[in-house]
Amino acid sequence: MIISFFPLMLFSLGIYNTLEKHYIQDRTADLQRQANIIAGNIISSGYLKSINLEQKKVFSDEIQQKSKEIGARIMVFDAKGIVLNDSNKVDVGKMTLQKEVITALEGTNATYLLPGSNIIHAVVSIKDDKTHGIIAAVMISASIEDIYISLRSVQKQLYVLVILTTLVVGFFSFYVSGVLIRPLKELVKVIQKVTEGHLDQQIPVRGKDEIADLTMAFNHMSERLLEVDRSREEFVANVSHELKTPLSSIKVLSESLLLQEDLPVELYQEFLEDITSEVDRQTAIINDLLALVKIDGKNMELSFNETYLNTLIEDILKRLHPLAMQKNIELIYESRRDVYAKVDEIKLTLAISNLVENGIKYNNENGTVSVILDADHQNAFITIQDTGIGIPEEEQKKIFDRFYRIDKTRDRATGGTGLGLAITQRTVLLHQGSIRLTSKEGEGCTFILRIPLHLSS
Ligand code: ADP
Repeated sequence: MIISFFPLMLFSLGIYNTLEKHYIQDRTADLQRQANIIAGNIISSGYLKSINLEQKKVFSDEIQQKSKEIGARIMVFDAKGIVLNDSNKVDVGKMTLQKEVITALEGTNATYLLPGSNIIHAVVSIKDDKTHGIIAAVMISASIEDIYISLRSVQKQLYVLVILTTLVVGFFSFYVSGVLIRPLKELVKVIQKVTEGHLDQQIPVRGKDEIADLTMAFNHMSERLLEVDRSREEFVANVSHELKTPLSSIKVLSESLLLQEDLPVELYQEFLEDITSEVDRQTAIINDLLALVKIDGKNMELSFNETYLNTLIEDILKRLHPLAMQKNIELIYESRRDVYAKVDEIKLTLAISNLVENGIKYNNENGTVSVILDADHQNAFITIQDTGIGIPEEEQKKIFDRFYRIDKTRDRATGGTGLGLAITQRTVLLHQGSIRLTSKEGEGCTFILRIPLHLSS
């Protein structure tokens, strides 16, 4: 309302002032014109020189007539300033001391708006048509009160318009803000519910405006929250399950050793080997969990050093060679250029190892895993490509979640913990890089890591 009221008010004041100026100028010019006409008539009628009373009377009547016509007082003065004729008839024969008449008699024609009153004086000097000396003056005095009456009426209408417009704008804004705010209030209510722990909230999306966008964004966020909550529950369940299974096996194995006497040494050996492998599995899970917790920690300290990525990758492949040999998988390394980057060597090694290890684990016998190292002037690109079983489209988003495994039974056999990709993704993010996966089920996977050569602060 304020925003509409002040400009409109200024606008109407502007209109009022322009109209006032225009009307007064118009009236002033008109009076000046009339005074000139009268002065002309006085000269042409020979009134000033005539001694004929009859003629003077006729001229007086003419002035009277003219005065009525233009609604103004007309006075004629002689060269000494004595009133020769007055349409009001009251001042005839009197001597005038009016400044504007005196200046007219001195030769200056002008109009005056008398200060403090709404009266305009137009004075014109009358010159002898032969000698050109000033012999008289005419003055017209007119009230401009009528101008102010019409201006006041215009002003009143403008004010009514301003007030009406302001009220309409006010009601409209009130209505619109109500319409805008209602869905926001609804959103706040739902957000409060989510805060209280009721995560499964969805708001119906209406229309196609920004509020609809906001509602959709909220619904996505809510879905994601629910997903995270579910995956957290699943995570805890998984951790318990993963840790319990080896423990149960260990318990069964050790109890059978305890309960039976005089067992052959070979059996002891076999059981203890089984126990050791279960302990190894448990250690692997705990190590992965610890690595993840460390990376997740807010105050995680990375030690970034200028590193030659070519040998870093070569070392990883050398270390994983025996694992690849078990399935007769060929490891191919293509390093397209020398790449130095500022990275945390240990953590990045772990991240890349996870990807190559997966390429081997989820590969078919006699398959290949290729690693390509390339770079432009800003980023290093590490591509890990395998000829394995691939990842279906609908699973691709989820495989970076902790403990997410596509086929739980299958992966237990491969010894995976479901934490590898989560660790890799977080490590890459800590390096301000990104990880992209393209894959088709049955046709293998391609993971592309982008690691900036230098960290931006
Ligand atoms: P895991 O320790 O089980 O390998 P990851 O987090 O590394 O855990 O991987 C998560 C899941 O993603 C795996 O269980 C597997 O189902 C799938 N996956 C990961 N990498 C590949 C790959 N190269 N080919 C096929 N599936 C893969």
